[in-house]
Parts: sequence; structure tokens; C-alpha cells
Amino acid sequence: VIVLISSVAVLSEVYGDLLRAAGATERLMELLAARSPVAEPTSPRPLPPTERGSRVAFNGLRFHYPSRPQTAALADIDLEVKPGETVALVGPSGAGKSTVFQLLLRFYDAEAGSVRVDGVDVREASLQSLRERIGIVPQDSVIFSTSALENIRYGRPGATDDEVIAAAKAAFAHEFIMALPQGYQSFLGERGVRLSGGQRQRISIARAILKNPPLLLLDEATSALDAESERMVQAALEAAMAHRTTLVIAHRLATVQQADRIVVMESGRIVDQGTHAELIERGGLYARLAAMQFGLESPA
Ligand code: ATP
Repeated sequence: VIVLISSVAVLSEVYGDLLRAAGATERLMELLAARSPVAEPTSPRPLPPTERGSRVAFNGLRFHYPSRPQTAALADIDLEVKPGETVALVGPSGAGKSTVFQLLLRFYDAEAGSVRVDGVDVREASLQSLRERIGIVPQDSVIFSTSALENIRYGRPGATDDEVIAAAKAAFAHEFIMALPQGYQSFLGERGVRLSGGQRQRISIARAILKNPPLLLLDEATSALDAESERMVQAALEAAMAHRTTLVIAHRLATVQQADRIVVMESGRIVDQGTHAELIERGGLYARLAAMQFGLESPA
């Protein structure tokens, strides 16, 4: 249930209006509305322009969920992510990876320490400016009951059709959309064309590419795809990660191998960091996780 609510929460602020439009139940909307414990600053600081992507800094971060005051979901988190860098977060279930995203998006405020995006403490930026700067590819891609064209346009509502199509091409979604009965006008969702898992993910990646944010948060899907779909999703993700800062909750070997840096989390703390090769060599928690998740041999 926690996992479900937290992934809905990550979606909620970004897709709140869309959920409403898509006819989400009153109950769900209530749940989402009840979860906004943060206050808007009275005189928000503007986020400065970025060139190669956002700079993100966590300093002495400590956080527990209001419903679990005894358990630190994050403790002593110090992490600097440079513009354009791709950082993979890995760690066992419950390590705090999604919580890092929730604090970046300011669904909650830290108990101690700070989160800065492009030098501005997230508590000093307006929620709108902060969330405009951040794109999200969630673990479960939401497909709305509308055309393929409009489904992608949710990434940036003012985008032209040509811009939507360019994003679909970059996300390796163009070909399968063109093969649908009415191409981009094909109706998707429950009463429309049913897409495969990999196709849904590529729609979601196309939205992020269309939004073109300086900071991308990617929660990789854990569900297995067939080899062909896997290859296309991977290529789409690479396109989405290029030319911006990316934080990715990684479940795939290709992703961690390509990350500039892997941050290993356990019980709310950062316990190690380095490249895939360095961490495998070290033979710690990462090597054990890699052996489990990717079937790699752990050095004895
Ligand atoms: P997973 O890989 O399973 O998604 P994770 O590394 O993303 O795990 P988090 O979801 O960040 O871990 O969870 C960190 C801790 O906070 C866990 O102990 C979890 O049970 C708890 N937690 C997460 N979301 C909530 C919530 N909404 N309310 C209370 N506790 C939560």
C-alpha cells in the first residue's frame, strides 16, 4: 500500500489536474489533497536559468514520514549532483530511494538539513517553479483515455503537433504509434488501444522529452519486457537522460553501467558510491545487490 500511495503521490502534483480530468475517484483526489503538508514561501526565490542541467545538493538531510515518527526514512544524506550528471540510486527495498525523490519534489520537508536545486533551497522556491524544472518518468506509466497525440502532449500542454511527434521519435514511440489504426489520433486507454508495457513506458518517456526539464527523475520499471521492447525502452531512456541532470532509481544493468555515478543506499543512508566497476571490485552491498538483480558474479 505504501508503495502504491507513494507512486501515486509522485504523480499527483504533476498529473493532478490530469487525474481529475481522467475521472479519478473523489476518494483518490481526497487522498492526494490530504498529502500536501508543505507551505508555499511568502516571497519565493526564482530558480536561476540552467544550461547543461540542474545542480542538486542534499546537505545533512534527515527525514521521517509523519506516520512513522520512530523510523528515519533518510539520515545524514550528503550528495551533490553536478549539471548533466547521471546518478543511479540503488539499494534494497525500503532503503529510501523514492523518499529522495519525494523530498526533491517537495512533497515533504526535511526534518534537518536542506535540499537545493540550482542553488536555491526548495523551501524558498515556489512549488510551481520547482516542479516545472523537474520531469518524472514514473515506474508505472499512466495512459489517459485520449489520443496518442494528446497523451504525449501532457508533457507540455502548449506543444505543437510537430513538437509532440519529434518527442515521440526521440522516445522510439513514433513507429508503433504510426502502426496503430489511426496513427497519432488513435484513442488509447481502457476503452482504446491496449499498449504493451514497453509501449506505455515509451509514451511516458516521450512526455518527459517533450517537457525538456533540466532535471529528470526516473523510476525504472521492474517488470520484465521482451528483448526487443527492452532495447527500445533503453534507447528511449538514453535519449531522455542526455543533456540534463538525471537521478534514476535503477533496476537495470544497462542503466547502472552507464551512470556517471552509482549511489548505494541502505536503511535511509548512503553507504557507498562509485562507478559500477569500482563498486563491483569493492565487493560490498552493491556487488551483492548486483548479483541478485542482474545475475552478476559477486567477487568472493
Ligand atoms: P523500494 O525500492 O521498495 O521502492 P525505496 O528505497 O524507494 O524502496 P522508500 O520508499 O523511500 O524506499 O522508503 C523508505 C522508508 O520509508 C521505508 O521504511 C518505507 O517503509 C518508509 N515509507 C515510504 N513511504 C512512506 C509513507 N508514505 N509513509 C510512511 N512510511 C513510508
